[in-house]
Amino acid sequence: MNCKTVTKILSDTAYVRIGGTSAEKQCAEYLKSACEQSGLNASIEPFPITMYDIKCAKLTVDGKEITCAGYGGAGMGTVSASLYYLQSTDAHSLKKCKDKIVLVDKAVGYKLYDMLLENGAKGFITFNGSIYYADRDILEKEIRFEAEALIPAVNINIDDAIDIVRRESKFAEITLEYESYIGESNNVILDIKGETDETVVISAHYDSTPFSVGAYDNMSSCIGLLYLEEYFSQKPLRRNIRLLWCGSEERGLLGSLEYCRLHKNELKNTVLNINLDMLGSVLGEFAAFSCANEEMKDFFEKFFKKHRFPASVRYAIRSSDSNSFVHYGVPAVSFARYAPSGASAIHTRYDTAKTVCPKQLLKDMKIIAKYAEYIANTPAFSFPIDISEKIKDEVSDYMKRRKL
Ligand SMILES: [Zn+2]
Repeated sequence: MNCKTVTKILSDTAYVRIGGTSAEKQCAEYLKSACEQSGLNASIEPFPITMYDIKCAKLTVDGKEITCAGYGGAGMGTVSASLYYLQSTDAHSLKKCKDKIVLVDKAVGYKLYDMLLENGAKGFITFNGSIYYADRDILEKEIRFEAEALIPAVNINIDDAIDIVRRESKFAEITLEYESYIGESNNVILDIKGETDETVVISAHYDSTPFSVGAYDNMSSCIGLLYLEEYFSQKPLRRNIRLLWCGSEERGLLGSLEYCRLHKNELKNTVLNINLDMLGSVLGEFAAFSCANEEMKDFFEKFFKKHRFPASVRYAIRSSDSNSFVHYGVPAVSFARYAPSGASAIHTRYDTAKTVCPKQLLKDMKIIAKYAEYIANTPAFSFPIDISEKIKDEVSDYMKRRKL
């Protein structure tokens, strides 16, 4: 693989591909045919996914309509109430949520949602965007956790959120209507045969978020898997390598979770998941996560030192497909090159090829290939590859109350 190929794939896939849409399927097919250039056959594994068709998302604040997007999976209907901006989640502030429509400036996970519910909120408003950007993009959101009761929720642009707070707005009305249905998302799988029954699964998600062509997050790593296909297809391997392009990661790691569910029996022979998410940025630091144990972290430290590759090593989980594997009992590692803020803006229209440097991506893949080669070919590991209690706890907290 060379820089020209990287640039071409980034350009071929410069479209929004949200989990469960036909654009995502189009990208799955593109990746499958890209695999075939090495003479290997990839397969596409479809899986069902809940989709939301938002019929009506309306927000009125003090009589003025504000453009908004709805939350799939939230409560339906109309609520009118006083408006309250929750600045902090201290007990006193939370008490003031009673019978209000609450504007929040944090992501609403199950913990914050429960606080809103327990304190009697009637609905909530979130926002996205940046005051420094000219766009007015508003993301459709969804409730991804199990909840005791559902209240309506909408998402707005940050400019409007600022306006609402500046004006000390008093009343709000939310109307939310949607239909949910079962759609289809897809994983793409390619096997490179080894000599034993053991397998290393190397994953990268290929879906993106609304408005985003996801060049950095995460077509960069999808190209990385194609690099590995080329790298390993002509080499004798002790362990099998399975390349897995996951669908619907951005919707809650759904592709990797589905993969683990469907391939549960094969997971017994899966020694490690190597997950790639966001690589090859022009600026930024390479990070290797051990989502296995402390010994893997120590190994990384020696490995990068030996290869004189600048990298930060972390012993923690990250919000990516590696968590699904750990959830199903497979130790994992995860790689990223984190671009500094200002050089990238993932999950927005600004995640374009401009963030990615083909040459850097090839350098990142060269070191990842070396690591994967060691994992695939070493006769015996010099340390146990298992999941520590610390990592188990982090993942079980991460997965808590998810709609799985
Ligand atoms: Zn990602």
